[in-house]
Amino acid sequence: MSLMESPLYQDAVKQLEESASIMGLDPNIMERLKYPKRALQVAVPIRLDDGTVKTFQGFRVQHNMTLGPGKGGIRFHPKVDLSETAGLAMLMTFKCALVGLPLGGAKGGISVDPSTLSRQELQALTRRYTTEINMIVGPNIDIPAPDIGTDGQTMAWFMDTYSQLKGYTVPGVVTGKPITVGGSLGRAEATGKGVAFCVNFAAEKMGMKIGSNTTVAIHGFGKVGVPAAEDLRDQGAKIVAISDVSGAVYNKDGIDIDKASSFTKRGGLLKDLPNVEHISNAELLALDVDILIPAAIDGVITEENADTVKAKMIAEGANGPLTKEAIEIIAKKGTFIIPDILCNAGGVIVSYFEWVQGLQNFFWDLDQINSKLHDILKDAFENVYEAHQEYKVDMKKAAFIAAFKRLMRAMRYRGLFPG
Ligand code: GLU
Repeated sequence: MSLMESPLYQDAVKQLEESASIMGLDPNIMERLKYPKRALQVAVPIRLDDGTVKTFQGFRVQHNMTLGPGKGGIRFHPKVDLSETAGLAMLMTFKCALVGLPLGGAKGGISVDPSTLSRQELQALTRRYTTEINMIVGPNIDIPAPDIGTDGQTMAWFMDTYSQLKGYTVPGVVTGKPITVGGSLGRAEATGKGVAFCVNFAAEKMGMKIGSNTTVAIHGFGKVGVPAAEDLRDQGAKIVAISDVSGAVYNKDGIDIDKASSFTKRGGLLKDLPNVEHISNAELLALDVDILIPAAIDGVITEENADTVKAKMIAEGANGPLTKEAIEIIAKKGTFIIPDILCNAGGVIVSYFEWVQGLQNFFWDLDQINSKLHDILKDAFENVYEAHQEYKVDMKKAAFIAAFKRLMRAMRYRGLFPG
């Protein structure tokens, strides 16, 4: 697939064009934003445990670096390709701009199903991938982080490989590392915590009070879904449904989140979770709940199933879980949508804190991190809400508009090289 052909990339460009024309974005700036700055495709050959060699396709795309070094996750998933990675890199540009970080947008990944590889094979894959993209990453160039299929261990291997190549430890080359090798407190939960903060900001605007009458369904009970569920449960909300790749589970009185998360963290699949009603993922998405949090992957709500969605609020925990068409159908019904580049920005915000802490070798406490995270998200939420009212557009378009305003100013000041 060519660089700009994937549905995700096309969706991002359409959203860019629409929001740009509403806010009067300088066409010269839009012309530049439609194309990624740099895209690298690499072969990642590794020796499997059975002695044979297998080659995987790896990618790193840097979309825009006007605001600072590239920032964005590394995804290990069979669906990863160059164009999807480029689309996700573009979303990172807008996400970082929206929440006011001095960072640009990038994304990387390998087309692989990590569950089919042993720990040793995954380590080899990560180290070879790092070596292959090493020339375009670095603490001042582009700083990867975890995404779907990768975690703190992946980042530790990445950091170690990069540091071996340099000859000294470079903690600032990636974020999302384990705490003992330069990670930040709060980073692992940051995306989910940010989702819970945004749900509260939106509830306030809707006149909804989060409490024991609030029902929540979470599609994707993983790195984002679990901490979001924990925070909302702690505020009294009832998490009535959760799901993973194996299916969804439902309990009208609220699922025991601690039991469910210790079950899944031990490798259990939700289809085997006892004492709950088992439903399909499609049924979960159509539940009549107050809040629906799609926190798994892109493209789960499309024009095909958008009509079935009954939730009053949708918090996009994943990147692009609602297609552009789905958003238009759902926003018309009056559903409050918290767009992904705002809703899941908690992860990259605390990544930014981790990067800063790593550069200074001075670490902050958790309260400081969570309160700064709250304040940055609150400001961004208000900016988006203001654009939503001022331009009379849905929250998704409003988020793009708010992001473009910052990016446009910066791109104008920096100008176009060589002039
Ligand atoms: N992969 C996450 C995202 O899509 C986090 C990126 C980061 O922390 O750099 O926002």
